Amino acid sequence: MSSHDLLDIVRRDPRAEWIARNRLHPLHGTLVDDDAAEVRGPSGLLRKYPHRVGFIGPNGIKRIDRLKGNAAASGKGRRSAAQEVQLPLHRVENPDFYIVVVADMVGGRLTGHDKDVLGQAHKLAAGIEGAGAVLTVGFGSAKEEHFDTAGVDRLLVLDDDIYEGYCPEQRLAALLQVENEYQPRHWLFPDSVNGGTDLGSRLAARLHERPAVQAWQVDHQTAVCRGAGGTMDITRETPRLLMLAEECADQIDETRHEALPVTLTPVSVISQLQDQGPVAVDPNAVALAEAEFILSAGNGIHDWDQFHAAAAVLGATEGASRVAVDDGFMPRFRQVGATGTWVTARVYLAVGISGAIQHMQGIGQCDKVIAINTDAGCDMVKRASLSAIGDSEEILGELIKRVQAFRAQPSIEGDQDAA
Ligand SMILES: Cc1cc2nc3c(=O)[nH]c(=O)nc-3n(C[C@H](O)[C@H](O)[C@H](O)COP(=O)(O)OP(=O)(O)OC[C@H]3O[C@@H](n4cnc5c(N)ncnc54)[C@H](O)[C@@H]3O)c2cc1C
Repeated sequence: MSSHDLLDIVRRDPRAEWIARNRLHPLHGTLVDDDAAEVRGPSGLLRKYPHRVGFIGPNGIKRIDRLKGNAAASGKGRRSAAQEVQLPLHRVENPDFYIVVVADMVGGRLTGHDKDVLGQAHKLAAGIEGAGAVLTVGFGSAKEEHFDTAGVDRLLVLDDDIYEGYCPEQRLAALLQVENEYQPRHWLFPDSVNGGTDLGSRLAARLHERPAVQAWQVDHQTAVCRGAGGTMDITRETPRLLMLAEECADQIDETRHEALPVTLTPVSVISQLQDQGPVAVDPNAVALAEAEFILSAGNGIHDWDQFHAAAAVLGATEGASRVAVDDGFMPRFRQVGATGTWVTARVYLAVGISGAIQHMQGIGQCDKVIAINTDAGCDMVKRASLSAIGDSEEILGELIKRVQAFRAQPSIEGDQDAA
């Protein structure tokens, strides 16, 4: 054996090995970098930890930054969850033309459908010569905070009292003002029951335009629309006014937009229609597929009377996991999931539901999911925007009490009477 070979021998250090294994030892950090993806152990062996590559993003999903190399392995450059990527700003200073998107803005926020339509607006603008700006019109008070990343170049929010409630004549008058002021190249509406179809049809009639309805594949030349109850496609030249189906285009995700506010002087019109306000309905009479707010029960519900009481107090439509149905606690038509109903609620409150894949398939279209569960690591909690970790009985009990106390406030009672 040569002296060179002797130098290559890695001598084991049992004490160092022990310290490296013992995470609580004060010297553990000096021997092992817990965050490193590759560690040379005291025995000289290189150990790779694939699970330590990448970082957990703000929504809890693991991300691996392949462009910048292995951030975790370098020991530095680990991105904090709060750090956001600044998208490049798309600026249109002096627009040559406008494309107007009339957004549904349900609850004051852009819906997924609105964002699809905004994506379509930019696709159309890109196909037309000159610099086009996407002007978004929304009625009622806006709570949306991300107009810029949704693709809004100019923003017109009409939140005066005259636009509150169901007032299509008033809204139409505002759109006609926009027509006069901006002469839009295209008018785009979500073809939806949330207002887009109604308003789009009214404007088309007033402007004597023949709109494309249920348009789902559109460029500046041709528009493909679903016809005959979705059984056939109709291709036509792209008209000026389009009512677009959901998922008509990719949403904006690579640019930031100015969302510059613009104003319009409101004009009051004499309306033939009068909004009498919302009418109370039994939430359980609403079809599960159409319900806006669902309280759903799983195997983690043990007090069923309390669950039904909670649904009644919250005014929610009841849903259930398959286990709850199979065990006979809920009727089959209440089952949510792959073999039940696919729901599209704006809020889905899942109580004691683990989040099995078959259940998750049924709630893929829900806007906000709230989970109540004892298991903080279950898939439903990972999917949820908000979670309450604890016993369902205790949390529902407290929720019922608080909602009842809230409803008992004199100002709320007054509002309800007025409604
Ligand atoms: C072909 C096929 C189709 C299926 N289709 C569907 C379908 O359409 N819909 C569907 O839902 N399932 C479906 N399933 C079943 C699915 O795989 C799951 O078994 C089911 O969704 C689990 O229901 P669960 O979450 O209520 O129950 P479990 O998986 O038992 O979860 C119960 C949850 O409750 C929590 N919990 C327990 N006690 C409490 C407490 N006191 N307070 C709060 N939380 C508590 C637990 O932590 C757990 O997360 C299907 C399965 C197959 C094979």
